Parts: sequence; C-alpha cells; structure tokens
Amino acid sequence: MLGDIAPEQLGLTLGHDHIFAAPPSDVADTDLRINDEVASIAEMQAFAAVGGSAMIEMTTVDYGRDTSALQRISRATGVHLIAATGFNKGKFADRLTEGRSVEAIASWMIAEVLDGVQPFSSDQPVWEASNAKAGVIKASSSLNALSRNERKVFDVAIQAHHVTGAPISTHTEKGTWALEQIGLLLEGGVSPARVLIGHLDLKPDLAYLLEVASTGVYLGLDQFAKTKYLPDETRVYLVAKLVEAGYGRQILIGGDLARRSYWKYYGDPFGSTFIPLRIPEMLAQAGLTAAQINDILVQNPRSFLAFCTDQPE
Ligand SMILES: [Zn+2]
Repeated sequence: MLGDIAPEQLGLTLGHDHIFAAPPSDVADTDLRINDEVASIAEMQAFAAVGGSAMIEMTTVDYGRDTSALQRISRATGVHLIAATGFNKGKFADRLTEGRSVEAIASWMIAEVLDGVQPFSSDQPVWEASNAKAGVIKASSSLNALSRNERKVFDVAIQAHHVTGAPISTHTEKGTWALEQIGLLLEGGVSPARVLIGHLDLKPDLAYLLEVASTGVYLGLDQFAKTKYLPDETRVYLVAKLVEAGYGRQILIGGDLARRSYWKYYGDPFGSTFIPLRIPEMLAQAGLTAAQINDILVQNPRSFLAFCTDQPE
C-alpha cells in the first residue's frame, strides 16, 4: 500500500490476515464488519508497538476490500499492508465472476498488480487507492470441491501470475483440496515456490501437511490464537515437525483475524499482538533455533512476496 519496497524492508510479517473489510450486506453477523478505521489503526499501532512490521491483507473485492482505507491505515501506522487481488470462495465471488470471461477478469487482475488497484466493475461501491498496487493474487476453493467459477479464478490467477510475477495465495475451506489446488497451479506452469496454500491448520493432520510440503509450496498455518479450532500448542507442534522434516523455509503463519471479537481494540487480550508477543517464545520452547524462528516470521514472507517479473516461470 505504500508503494514498491525491497523485500529487506519487511520485518515480522503476518502471512494471512485482515485489518479492514466491509463484507456484503448478506453477511448478517456484525462481528465480521471490521470497517472502523479508528479500530484498524489502533490495532495496527498495537501490532507495530510490539515489533510487527507487515501483514498480507487477504481481503478481496467480493468481501469489501477498501484499499483507500488500507493505504490510510498503512500511512498512519507504518505497517506495510500487502493487498490482494483475486477472489474469495464462490459464496462471495460468484456474484462478480459469474458471466465474465477468463480474459476479462485476467485483464483486471493484471492491471491491479501492474498499474494499480481498481474497482472490479463500475457498479461496485468501493473506492480504491491511487498509487497502490496489489501484491498478491488470491484464488479460493470450497469444501472438498472447486466450482466452475472458482476454477475460472484459478485459470485467471495462473495467467495473471505469468504476466506479473505476483505470488499466488489460496483459500482452502477447512484445509481441504490443497493437493488439488497445487495440481492445478503446477499444471498451469506456476512454480511451487510462488504459491502459498492457506488455512492448513484447519486440517491439522501431520501426514497431510508433510505431503503438501513435499510439493515445494509455502504452507499457511494462519489460524493462530483461534483456540476454538485448535490449541496453539498443537499448531506450534505441527510447525516444529515440519521444520524437523526440512520444510522450515516453506512456512508462513498468521491469525486471519477477520472478526471484531478477535481484536485487542474490541477487548481480546492479544489481538494482532499475539504472534509477535507469544509465538517466538512458543517456537523456541518447541526446539526451534532463533534462525528458524526468523525464517518463519521474516525470511519466508520476504521470499514469498518478492516479485520475479524479470523471469516469469
Ligand atoms: Zn482470510
């Protein structure tokens, strides 16, 4: 959101998170409306105060992305927000992608990365930032399945990746369909080193995670602090096992804190400060070295986010 930066400018980076979203009106749960800039700025100030540097902000146009707000939040706090082009799962994206061709969607997505963020269609009530570009491409699948429109988005993402060099970050529903996503992307000529598969700690099966890791992609364990799904000790255990198996350079972590009730500003004891404050210590207790912890929090996001437009795969 603050313009092109060198990878070395990124410090501790959350691999999949949300700091501003105004979801469509059919999303009735008001807890999901994280659209108060005062709250967003306070949350990012708290994150920065404990060493947070950057966040891959995965909110897409079908879920109320507002890059003008993201840019103001970034400017006010100094936290680098990396915005996403692309789409959420079909439940949200179909209303935009249905009836539009791969070519039409691809030209929008490519422009978002190369020229600057822009509304997906003229009837969309969003205001996009000037001088800001999308830094990551999002594609999503549903539970154990990929719909026709979701498949179209994967085809678009592959095209846009080849033209722009932007990395691809996915949404899996509860961790399912990861291997199939990888199959599609690799078949499309995308290098696994340019792919991050999201929400894998929602399917906390070590054998499955090792199989995903063996393909060479980045693994997103991005539900940290959500103990309703899994104790954080188990997430740390999975990370430690992946590191032990040699996949320490392929892990990104995050909190995916897309609810008000998850935020410090609204009363959670940690909110966005949880990962900077608690995770280094927990990973160290699980046996990781300082360098291995630094890989997960700093180096891996740098490598994943680096553009390679000079050498498209
Ligand atoms: Zn998310």
